[in-house]
Amino acid sequence: MKFSIISDAFQKMEATSKRLELTDILVELIKEIPEDVISKAVYLIQGKLRPNFEGVELGIAEKLVMKAMSKSSGIPLKKIEEDYNKGGDLGQTAENILQQKIQTTFLSETITLERVYETLLKISNLEGKGSQEMKMRYVSSILNDATPQEAKFILKILLGTLRLGIAENTVMDALAIAFTGEKENREVIENAYNVSSDLGKVAQVVSTGGIEQIRKFQIQLFNPIRPMLADRIKSGEETVKKFQNDFAAEYKLDGERAQIHKQKDTIMIFSRSLENITSYYPDIVEKISKLIISDDVILEAEVVAMNTNSGDFLPFQELMHRRRKYEIDEAVTKYPITVNFFDVLFSNGKNCMEMEYMERRKLLEKIIKEDDFARLIPMSIINNEEQILEVLENSINSGCEGLMLKHLNSTYRAGIRGSNWLKLKREYQNDLGDSLDLVVIGAFFGKGRRTGKYGTLLLATYNDEEDVFPSICKVGTGFSDESLDQLYQILSPKVTLKKNPRIISDMAADMWFEPELVIEIVASEITQSPIHKTASDKIKENTGLALRFPKFTGKIRTEKNAEDASTDEEVIALYKVQKKTVNQK
Ligand code: AMP
Repeated sequence: MKFSIISDAFQKMEATSKRLELTDILVELIKEIPEDVISKAVYLIQGKLRPNFEGVELGIAEKLVMKAMSKSSGIPLKKIEEDYNKGGDLGQTAENILQQKIQTTFLSETITLERVYETLLKISNLEGKGSQEMKMRYVSSILNDATPQEAKFILKILLGTLRLGIAENTVMDALAIAFTGEKENREVIENAYNVSSDLGKVAQVVSTGGIEQIRKFQIQLFNPIRPMLADRIKSGEETVKKFQNDFAAEYKLDGERAQIHKQKDTIMIFSRSLENITSYYPDIVEKISKLIISDDVILEAEVVAMNTNSGDFLPFQELMHRRRKYEIDEAVTKYPITVNFFDVLFSNGKNCMEMEYMERRKLLEKIIKEDDFARLIPMSIINNEEQILEVLENSINSGCEGLMLKHLNSTYRAGIRGSNWLKLKREYQNDLGDSLDLVVIGAFFGKGRRTGKYGTLLLATYNDEEDVFPSICKVGTGFSDESLDQLYQILSPKVTLKKNPRIISDMAADMWFEPELVIEIVASEITQSPIHKTASDKIKENTGLALRFPKFTGKIRTEKNAEDASTDEEVIALYKVQKKTVNQK
């Protein structure tokens, strides 16, 4: 397939920020893609080569790309650097430069999608001695044959700067429309995505087998399942009202969620955002096989740092010491952990997600041989407020954050946040000393000690109905020098030239970011706001909600995706409770 078909569509997408138009362009594009390359095309559309959990990293030094441009165009490096410094986007520079190309290649070949994909894959696999030289050769060879527009998009993919504003949801909508003719079928497609986390694979199945085949989509070991998420609840009273009957109360531990896949002695561990985190936990790999009585299994657990002397749980931050490439053995000894199981999704060839909570819990109890390292999360079956308070108190006393309350008849719904699981944290009871997880969408330049860093950040909630990120506040307090540095490192690669269409804000930020990073914020109050867009029109017309005196808690929630941030609904709920409390005073 000609790559120009893709790059023409990308060009049109760049020119719009309307989600419906984006979907239409995508549908037309997808209809033109042959079955045998659909998965590759879907990865490229999302600016990647493989599903995220495989960790295939794209990327190349900018200097190298400029040299390659110079080589294939005959234009001096200095001129290329000048153009780049003006605009700050190498893809765009490539388009500008190739338009003025001096050397013309008489025998230039038409570039195919397959060639672009294979070349990028080869580049991402190159490592070690001589790899830089090889990368440059690959780039300049493809630039020799590329049109200026193709070059722009190839480089944007390679540099990780392709920002078309296409969310996974948009791709799924487009797949449903293109292959089944009905947007409503998106749900079936989403189910397949929820158990595979691989949109390329899903696209391939629906393109070859249609809706029938995608309905039969099966769980596969070592493909992570998108985790089930919980709604917040503010009081025991509300819980009892919601559940009515008996329900399960589990301790809510403050650690890292781990989805553990095991087939015989092979272990793979995925984080909540489906990153492969196996290498950070060699102790789990070493010890866990002996403690699981099932040949092939997918389990969920909360990994928590421990003080082995006192037996106390330590806060989530301690686990971050494990996030390193080298000397991991030292970190394993210095920062010991326990693995606390709470669910089973697959066992001995059987999908357990359709089983009800109690059945899954009983199976889990059979599968896990508990010891100091591997445990089951404490659980009790209760039905009234008094019992909730008692278990909550016990959980807090043993160093937990609160409770997870689970409906006894609920199945495991992958990728879904719903009211079958409720989280009750201690602080929720006296709102609003509560924290929110917000998405960093923009920044304002810093002054004084913050010069050259982002002084103030613009934050957003997640509006899950419309799949957008409305702004809720600016935050400039709570930052240590260290956290300012860290945020700068993480955020600079996420800078975009234009505001991502999923960001809803009227603020004039100095910078816009891809909505990806989540940080934790506390605030003194939620107020109505004519400026901010969270819950816009929900409480009052032309008015949104904003945070008063927001402060960064120091927690960068790298384990969360932007779609896991606090939602508009959650903020509305907090706002209402707060109003009630104020009125009662
Ligand atoms: P939050 O991160 O505040 O949205 O809370 C949900 C997270 O709590 C999950 O993603 C898990 O990492 C964690 N968690 C701790 N204990 C449990 C439990 N018993 N059941 C489910 N999740 C738990």
